[in-house]
Amino acid sequence: MCNRFMQPLRVAVQWLFLCFIGYLGVEFYRFVLYCRGESAVFIPRPDGVEGFLPISALVSLRGWLLTGEINPLHPAGLVLFLTIIGLSLLLKRSFCSWICPVGTLSELCWKGGFNLFRRNFRPPPWLDNVLRGIKYLLLLLFFWSIFVLMAPGAVISFISSDYNKIADIRMLDFFLHPSLFSLIIIGLLLLLSFPVKNFFCRFLCPYGALLGLVSIFSPVKVTRDPQLCVSCGVCSQACPSHLPVMVMERIHSPECIGCWRCIAHCPVHGALEMKLPGKIVVPGLLFALLVLLLFWGGTMAGKVTGHWQTAIPVSEYLLLSRDPSVRH
Ligand code: SF4
Ligand code: SF4
Repeated sequence: MCNRFMQPLRVAVQWLFLCFIGYLGVEFYRFVLYCRGESAVFIPRPDGVEGFLPISALVSLRGWLLTGEINPLHPAGLVLFLTIIGLSLLLKRSFCSWICPVGTLSELCWKGGFNLFRRNFRPPPWLDNVLRGIKYLLLLLFFWSIFVLMAPGAVISFISSDYNKIADIRMLDFFLHPSLFSLIIIGLLLLLSFPVKNFFCRFLCPYGALLGLVSIFSPVKVTRDPQLCVSCGVCSQACPSHLPVMVMERIHSPECIGCWRCIAHCPVHGALEMKLPGKIVVPGLLFALLVLLLFWGGTMAGKVTGHWQTAIPVSEYLLLSRDPSVRH
C-alpha cells in the first residue's frame, strides 16, 4: 500500500495536538486568573498541563522509586512522562514527530526556511556531531542532579514544597512575562530553526535525547530492502535527521524520530518500510493508530488508577498563586 498519505496524516495529528495543547493552555490561564482574583469565573485546572513539567516529573520518578508511591501533587506529569517513554520504547521517537508541540513548531520553521532559502542548512559533520552531543550532556546533567546529587530527603521535600506545587503557574508566568534574557534566547532559537532542521530538537532537547536512547530498543524500525532499492537517494534527502537511509538496512539510530518522511517519499513500492523483526511490515495506518492509542491509553490508565488529578486543593492554589515569595 502506498504510504504517501502518511505525511498529511502525521501533520494533521501534530496540529490536532497543538490545538489541544493550546486549548489546555488557555483553560489553565483562566484557572490562574481565577486563583489570583482577576476573574470571577472558576475554570477547573486542566491536569494535562503537567506535561510541561518534565523536571518535576523526573523528581517524581525518583520519589516513586524511593517510596513506591506516585506523588499526588503532580501525578499527571509522571503519568505523561512514563507514557511518552513507553511510546518511544515501542514506536521509536514518534512522540517527537507526531505529538510534541515543540517538534511541530520546529518542523513548521524549517519548512518555512526551506521555502524562503530553497534549501536548509546543515553544520559541517564535525560541528553537527559536537552540537548533537549537547542534548546528551544536558540529559546527563539532569539525571546526575536528580538521581545522584539529590539526597532522598531532599527529593521528598522538593516534591511537597510550595515551589513545586505551583511549578505549573511559574511555567505559565515564564511564558507570559519572559525576561529580556529569555526573549533573546527564544528569539535566537527561533531564528536558527528556520535554516537548520529541528535545531532545538536535534541539538538541545534533553527529553529528545532520552527518548532517542530508549527508542534504540524499539522493535519497529525503518528497514530498507536492498533487493528492491534503486539507490535514488530520495530517502536520505527527505530525512530531517540527516540519516543516510539509502545505505543502511535498518535504522537503529536514536536520531530517527519515526516521522515516515523517508518511507513516504520512496518511489519504489516495498523498498522502504517500517518493520518489526522478522521483516514483518507495520502498515502506516496501524502505526498512526498505535501512536494515538498508546498515548491516549497511558493518560486513561493514569485517570482510571487515580493518578491524574492533583491533590492540591483550589484553596491552596488561591493562596500560593498570590504569594510572591513562592512565585519567584
Ligand atoms: S529515518 Fe525516516 S523515519 Fe527516521 S527520521 Fe529519517 S525520515 Fe524520519
Ligand atoms: S528512496 Fe527508496 S529506492 Fe530510493 S534509495 Fe531510498 S530506499 Fe532506495
